[in-house]
Amino acid sequence: MKIYNTLSRKKEEFVPVEPGKVRMYVCGPTVYNLIHIGNARPMIIFDTVRRYFLYKGYDVNYVSNFTDVDDKIIKKAQEEGKTAEEVSSHYIEECKKDMESLNILPATTAPQATKEIDGMIDMIQTLIDKGFAYVAEDGTVYYRTRKFQDYGELSHKNIDELEAGHREIQVTGGEQKEDPLDFVLWKPKKEGEPYWDSPWCKGRPGWHIECSVMSKRYLGDTIDIHAGGEDLVFPHHENEIAQSEAANGCTFAKYWMHNGFLNIKNEQSSKYEKMSKSTGNFFTVRDVLEKYDPQVLRFFMLSVHYRSPLNFSAELMEAVKSGLERIRNAAELLRDKAASAQGDALTEEEKGLVQEAEGFRKKFEEAMDDDFNTADAVSSIFELVKFSNTQAAREGHTKAFYEALLKELEELSDILGIKTEKEEELLDAQVEALIQERQDARKAKNFARADEIRDQLAAQGILLKDTREGVKWTRA
Ligand code: AMP
Ligand code: ZN
Repeated sequence: MKIYNTLSRKKEEFVPVEPGKVRMYVCGPTVYNLIHIGNARPMIIFDTVRRYFLYKGYDVNYVSNFTDVDDKIIKKAQEEGKTAEEVSSHYIEECKKDMESLNILPATTAPQATKEIDGMIDMIQTLIDKGFAYVAEDGTVYYRTRKFQDYGELSHKNIDELEAGHREIQVTGGEQKEDPLDFVLWKPKKEGEPYWDSPWCKGRPGWHIECSVMSKRYLGDTIDIHAGGEDLVFPHHENEIAQSEAANGCTFAKYWMHNGFLNIKNEQSSKYEKMSKSTGNFFTVRDVLEKYDPQVLRFFMLSVHYRSPLNFSAELMEAVKSGLERIRNAAELLRDKAASAQGDALTEEEKGLVQEAEGFRKKFEEAMDDDFNTADAVSSIFELVKFSNTQAAREGHTKAFYEALLKELEELSDILGIKTEKEEELLDAQVEALIQERQDARKAKNFARADEIRDQLAAQGILLKDTREGVKWTRA
């Protein structure tokens, strides 16, 4: 099995730290808003990586965090008159609902930064004791970047070029750093911000130290795979390596995996650009689930290689939707045929055909073994669909034969987290999305649309109740 490692810029054979086990850490979202579909890309990709390892018989310890202390969360809390904790815990719950609807397996552990502060203080203290960090006059703790020999290795950046890029910051920042390249491990609190006691000042951790600590606590000092979107390579992952390797004295992660961006058209320039909350050019998962089955969104993410950029468009979503329907129709046809056919044993001819069908599984595995090429893996599922439709059109096969083909189709789809059965019931996230749309319609005095949504939900057995705390809903 080969994995493209950002560190070596090569595909490398996967050799686990411990035979039969995979320890994997995926940087999770900062929770101050509903997640957008750009955030969903790494979630779906690395969930698929995990599923493939499971299929191959590995025991996978999968850790993915929530960053729940951050300037953006604090800002949102101040705007809404809430505490940062209220904001983050709300969006963690909402994020979990979206993940469930996208058929993302719950992480083995999903730690929250605010609950791991003791570990962060310990690691920062170790870095100070080893001379890799220092305390400035105001209590800020900085990492002494130049002391770490391998700095820049992951992002393939030369430290002197980096220094040139940072010089400006030093002039304008007025910070108490020894060197512009140094980054924050602990910072003093500001008025109205959440804070924790520490040996240096009342304050809070920097973002990078959080992941180093949570990865160490739940997976150990050396892990197999560390992953996230490509924007995290520098500085986030570079800094994580500097912190963890200096503190622990060993390799932090053997394989670094990064997904490409999900892009969206900028209406003004007509060019595709990275989907991002800060530019305001994004769709939340909920927006998309109003129009599409969550399985379509999942399938969309798997339709191209994870390292390639992916442009979100209605045309591509429609194409993916009909592709998914082709798979589901093939499965349904096999189920119908199996229900009415007889014969529990394969005929000699059918044995040969089943072997032929297993050839598609081999192709699927070859694609996945080659750095998780889901695009090619999906193609082999379509080949199986075509083969299966041709066979199903012929009369006289045994029940055992239809069942064998169905099993192939279901198993391969399942590795990608794709369900071959249509889901009839609305998922929680879809209900919430419709309720939100109804609220918006009411605000815009579009009562006809609001009533239509209420009726649509009622038809699905969802009952709405308007309360002072907002709309509550139950399943009948
Ligand atoms: P954030 O909440 O911004 O820290 O992002 C959480 C995860 O989503 C990180 O792994 C990011 O790299 C990833 N991410 C954010 N935007 C995009 C995008 N447009 N395309 C792909 N991945 C993204
Ligand atoms: Zn991280």
